[in-house]
Amino acid sequence: MNGALEGPASRLDVEAVPLEVLWNAPIGIALVDRRLQVVRFNRALAGLHGLHARIWPGMPLADVFPPGGETQELLWRIQQVLSTGQPFPWLELEWGRVSCHPLHEGMEVVGLCLYVEELPEPMLAREVVRESETRLRCIVAALSEGIIVQDATGAITFSNEAASRLLGLTLEQLLGRTSMDPRWRAVREDGSPYPGDEHPAMLALRMGTPQLDKVMGVERPDGTRVWLSINALPLPGSDGQSPQGMVTSFFDITQRKETEAALRVSEERLRMSLASATIGTWDYNPATGEFLCDPRTLVLFGAPPGHQMDCGQLISIIHPEDRERTEQVIQRVLRPENGGGYDIEYRVIGIQDGVERWISAQGRAWFDEQGQLLRFTGTVVDITQRKRAEASARFLSEASGLLAERLDRAEEILERMARLVASSICTYCIIGVTRADGRLPRVAAAHREASKHSLLQRSMFFVPKAPGRSPLLEAVHTGKSVLIREFTQEIRQRYAVNSEHLELMNTMDAHSVMTVPMRAGGKVHGMILLAACTPLRRFDEEDLALAEELAHRVGMSLENLRLYEEARQAVGLRDEFLSVASHELKTPLTSLKLQHALIGKSLSPESRVCVGTRLSNAMRQVERLTSLVDSLLDVSRIGAGRLGLEPVEMELTALLREVMERLSEVFAQAGCQVDFPDTPPVHGYWDPLRLDQVLVNLLSNAAKYGAGKPIHVSVALEGERTRLAVRDEGIGIAPEDLPRLFSRFGRAVSERHYGGLGLGLFISKQIVEAMQGFIRVESEPARGSTFTVELPLRARG
Ligand code: ADP
Repeated sequence: MNGALEGPASRLDVEAVPLEVLWNAPIGIALVDRRLQVVRFNRALAGLHGLHARIWPGMPLADVFPPGGETQELLWRIQQVLSTGQPFPWLELEWGRVSCHPLHEGMEVVGLCLYVEELPEPMLAREVVRESETRLRCIVAALSEGIIVQDATGAITFSNEAASRLLGLTLEQLLGRTSMDPRWRAVREDGSPYPGDEHPAMLALRMGTPQLDKVMGVERPDGTRVWLSINALPLPGSDGQSPQGMVTSFFDITQRKETEAALRVSEERLRMSLASATIGTWDYNPATGEFLCDPRTLVLFGAPPGHQMDCGQLISIIHPEDRERTEQVIQRVLRPENGGGYDIEYRVIGIQDGVERWISAQGRAWFDEQGQLLRFTGTVVDITQRKRAEASARFLSEASGLLAERLDRAEEILERMARLVASSICTYCIIGVTRADGRLPRVAAAHREASKHSLLQRSMFFVPKAPGRSPLLEAVHTGKSVLIREFTQEIRQRYAVNSEHLELMNTMDAHSVMTVPMRAGGKVHGMILLAACTPLRRFDEEDLALAEELAHRVGMSLENLRLYEEARQAVGLRDEFLSVASHELKTPLTSLKLQHALIGKSLSPESRVCVGTRLSNAMRQVERLTSLVDSLLDVSRIGAGRLGLEPVEMELTALLREVMERLSEVFAQAGCQVDFPDTPPVHGYWDPLRLDQVLVNLLSNAAKYGAGKPIHVSVALEGERTRLAVRDEGIGIAPEDLPRLFSRFGRAVSERHYGGLGLGLFISKQIVEAMQGFIRVESEPARGSTFTVELPLRARG
């Protein structure tokens, strides 16, 4: 203080200048004791506007200045002067500035002298600054990031609430603590100690450059460790050059670190468990952009060992047909709200080898608590074999379905088969069928691209001469499959019939070809040629096996078709024979009947006694024969679709009584009482002769299979329909015989016990159905049978 009064006032008696003069100085001055209580102060200080309260001697310094972080910092600095004896020059404050100097007694600091000056700015400007500072303080206080300001010694001079919360320290504990403080127990990411002079703030100070994204683990007083991501910036000094301190911001990444640690553990575990499996793994780290693939993944992606993949390449190798779908799944997985997991199957085209492989991919995206992608990891498995097997099974089942359609339209079926083959397992397909004369006409062909179909048609005109000149003929000739993995130019030349043919082959551009014979029943029925034109597609043994299986099935169908055709022809012949035979038989029978009638008429009474009964027997046998021949004739008519009806207006009960009358002898011989209650007449429009035939069949069957038991006949009218039932109490029919009763030659009894051709019910059913009615049977063995016929009174149409 003395020094300050020397010089210009040297002629003055310095000792005489009263201390009051200093106390009248236009700058606030205060003397403070070691307890930081105001001992003396001058007038200027008392008159300052920025002070918190009216000042009085003995007032704690803490109450002199307005409360808040700024004052806290000021007090802390003042405290530093007390403990170090080092003064601090002007400290700029919101409302003014303060300078602090120690007062010594010898070496000991006994008190402090504070110079306080208000800012010269007008009040309004100060308010504005204060307001913006307040706003800034509020923002800093509200931040979830911790903010700390340190001075050039590394001591904390400011910290916000988030910093206290994250570090587990109160403001008081934080203020003044330096980076060197051993209580931080700071560690680096690898767990090694983080020395104080290398803390980001200290580096920022030393190097004068920002230190960004530094990770530090800090031990809280409660023993827990918090992981922080730290940014530290140097604060330029008043000269704008050397830093006067640093500001540090940091946020909690503990969860992220824990997730990463968990990930590492599970990765390790996975790696171990995968060591012997055929699963490839990959790992994408968005922070580093690194995409790591293990050697198996590279193999599955058709990449050379050590190849460096990236995400873009992964997308580009996905088969075009699967790409959009796969990309959609990836997009979904990368949204944290979707849980991160995925499980998909897609095809890839090998990066180097160009091989198409089916991949089953599973994996997970990992996010931090802010939803930022941390890692994207996954496994890949080659499922090509399974997919091929599935596709083959699907294809074969489709092909079988096609073959099971109608047998009599072979050419259409083969045409459709060719289309199916071309669309599923190759690019184009030709099917040839061997003829009896040994020729091999190509009956069906299909190309995956419809526009190329005409080329295929043209190629059929080139007929090779010798088996060795064509894979088609070769397969038929030897009965063995031909697999031409690489359909090279040289092979094309060998097979080409002429230059035009070769040109056509080159236009069609098959890269791989196979021909398989269609064999069944010890015969080669033809062959199937399959060609692959896709650049990377080559047929292999597995393709050949599939084609052979297909050819076998087609061959079987063709064999069945041949047998069916033969059977049909045989049936046709039989029907023709039946028709001719029954016509032929009818003529002598008619003549025989006539002869019998004439004999009957010409018999004298004596001879009638002798031969009358025999003649009647002979006439009955002729009747029976006639009826059998009629049945055969009907069957052949039905077979040829010539069972014509001649309907007339008629009454059913009358016809029924007439038939019963006619069969009275049959009933009598069988020992059957027929019970037909009085029934009102039922008029309808039917063919009486055909209806007669049905009634005779049902009634005579009832007598035949229900001998000795009564027969019940009923007729009922139900709206526009009539229902006629014939019930016997005879042998009945076993349930398993019921379904074939109405079919041609359908018999349910042994020939030894019962005669009959098994045609009556078949003919009856045809007649009833032609009349738009139906016939059914209910029966139980040994309990009897009921045959019911329902007929519309008038058939429609
Ligand atoms: P069949 O001339 O052999 O009698 P049908 O076509 O009239 O020919 O009858 C077919 C078969 O149905 C018979 O062989 C017999 O087994 C069975 N059947 C027909 N009617 C009866 C019935 N009323 N009771 C038991 N079985 C019957």
